[in-house]
Amino acid sequence: MIDLHTHTTFSDGELIPSELVRRAEVHGYTAIGITDHVDYTNVEHILTSLSKIKYLKGVLDMQILVGAELTHVPPTKIAPLAAFARKLGAEIVVVHGETPVEPVSPGTNRAAILAGVDILAHPGFITLEEAELAKENNVCLEITSRLGHNITNGHVVRLARQAGAKMVVDTDSHAPEDLITGERAVEIAMGAGLTREQALDVVNRHAIIR
Ligand SMILES: [Zn+2]
Ligand SMILES: [Zn+2]
Repeated sequence: MIDLHTHTTFSDGELIPSELVRRAEVHGYTAIGITDHVDYTNVEHILTSLSKIKYLKGVLDMQILVGAELTHVPPTKIAPLAAFARKLGAEIVVVHGETPVEPVSPGTNRAAILAGVDILAHPGFITLEEAELAKENNVCLEITSRLGHNITNGHVVRLARQAGAKMVVDTDSHAPEDLITGERAVEIAMGAGLTREQALDVVNRHAIIR
């Protein structure tokens, strides 16, 4: 299981980083991205603090990527903040996309894709044009196991396939019970409309970590 979108107590998650990665290890994870919610007010603090999780390097048999999820940042501010996060050492940059269950600013999906972030999380009713831009800019579109955000998974998969854009399955974990196994990730991708073979391809031949 590779999951590049999770949260800790540094934003609205329930677990400190060490407990999150220990629980992920028990679920068979081989890589995890810790991507707490950031905007301009907290990005330095969060990335500086999260980077200390590298103390586990060589202790756990799991790759840990330190990152950030740009959340409710106005579209015009996304590209500069993504660049700033990378400058601060973010190994994975996620943008909190236009999920239908939150008032995310229209234009957020497009701004994230144009900024060339790694993952556009829960992109909601993404358009075909945006999905095509995502393919061009090598931005992965997220299939999510998170309740609420997941209601548009089928739409995301359909347009990603139409455009040839890359997909990833993430949990957006905020609590221990949100973590899943690789087999569950395959089921979530299949539930969104992929065949078992396509789902296995997305989960096992991960677009970002191979
Ligand atoms: Zn999000
Ligand atoms: Zn999230």
